[in-house]
Amino acid sequence: MDNNTLAQRDLKVIWHPCTQMQDHESLPLIPIRRGHGAWLEDFNGNRYLDAISSWWVNLFGHTNPRISAAIQAQLHNLEHVILAGFTHEPIIELSEKLTRITPAGLTRCSFADSGSAAVEIALKMSFHYWQNQGRKNKTRFISLTNSYHGETLGALSVGDVALYKDTYQALLLDTIHVKSPDCYHREAGESWADCSLRAFADMERALARHAEEACAVIIEPLVQCAGAMRMYDPVYLARLREACDKYQVHLIADEIAVGFGRTGTMFACEQAGITPDFLCIGKGLTGGYLPLSVCLTNDDVYAAFYDTYATRKAFLHSHSYTGNPLACAAALATLDIFNENDVIGENKILSEHMRRACAHISEHPHVAEVRQTGMILAIEMVKEKNGRKPYPWQERRGLAVFRHALDHGAILRPLGDVIYFMPPYVIRPEEIEQLAKIAWEGINIATKE
Ligand SMILES: *Cc1c(COP(=O)(O)O)cnc(C)c1O
Repeated sequence: MDNNTLAQRDLKVIWHPCTQMQDHESLPLIPIRRGHGAWLEDFNGNRYLDAISSWWVNLFGHTNPRISAAIQAQLHNLEHVILAGFTHEPIIELSEKLTRITPAGLTRCSFADSGSAAVEIALKMSFHYWQNQGRKNKTRFISLTNSYHGETLGALSVGDVALYKDTYQALLLDTIHVKSPDCYHREAGESWADCSLRAFADMERALARHAEEACAVIIEPLVQCAGAMRMYDPVYLARLREACDKYQVHLIADEIAVGFGRTGTMFACEQAGITPDFLCIGKGLTGGYLPLSVCLTNDDVYAAFYDTYATRKAFLHSHSYTGNPLACAAALATLDIFNENDVIGENKILSEHMRRACAHISEHPHVAEVRQTGMILAIEMVKEKNGRKPYPWQERRGLAVFRHALDHGAILRPLGDVIYFMPPYVIRPEEIEQLAKIAWEGINIATKE
């Protein structure tokens, strides 16, 4: 088997995610034969450094021996069982551990199979909570501009990435969008904290105005990942927590992308010392092995649904593969790796390597900014450095960097004109330097004339 044969078979039968399929008339589709550590290998023997953790899911490398063994062991006992009326050891152990490692006060785990589905649970639970409390006017959600929470209709409604959303507008919930605390737009000399606080005035106004009709505010703590890796200061989260309490509006933290160490702490909310009313996690939860997501919440929310059957207060949401034991086994092995190694401490060293390896890129005449939060580093390409004028999106400059990187053994799938590294934690310092070099050369080529 070679790349070409497989790609041709694929293109006859598969409709790929987030892809204009016509692109593959010129852009090769790459069949992957195997993965090991931070590397993937195709059927022609080319190797690629997986700098984006296969869409932000992989934490400890491909075919990680520990996680693979845990799944294999679980396979001998139980592959799956209905979770309504039944339970199993892996999900009990995982839930106990999750309630221990997440911010204090999150005591209940509802399971689903994708990040989007966990967001749907949070939205429905928050709405339903207020219904059960007799607050029938609470029917709307507040979210940030440039946010992303998934692709199902509810999750899409609270998101704000035009590219994914505009077409479906007529189908979506009427959401209140509030100015993002995104620090890319800070003024000259302004600190991240000041910039984020300035944006908070908009949130405060929206909460004051819509408190009676708002169920919850949903945010991505610290980094709006799909929104081109835009970043903000933890002080915003601290203020938001206070304001949500004041106005009796839930706070939903979507840590599907930023959870499990990506921002430098196990969960991004820790950096603001807050506990959300709902915490959505997914992606890295299973180390990048199997689809699994969780919506955690607190005793107060749980109690509002707990009553006799006839009151019809129960949360009757479900998914067929809810709490799949194989996925739970992968998640438990992933948490074991965190537990037995100082992953967060070692990542501090790696993220410092990333910072140093990429510092010079901010001097590039077509780079507006190199920004970083923990293990996420992003490079914003622009047409004009002065005034940060972007390239027309039709030029697809980021795609040129992607192509260059593929030819040089790295996967740097950009978000528009933003090139970013969000690598598995098993990446080595010399591999980070290699990535920085490939990114620099790619940006040179992409920004020529
Ligand atoms: C990826 C992502 C989701 C959606 O998760 P899926 O598993 O792709 O459905 C939701 N929120 C954030 C912040 C994400 O990055």
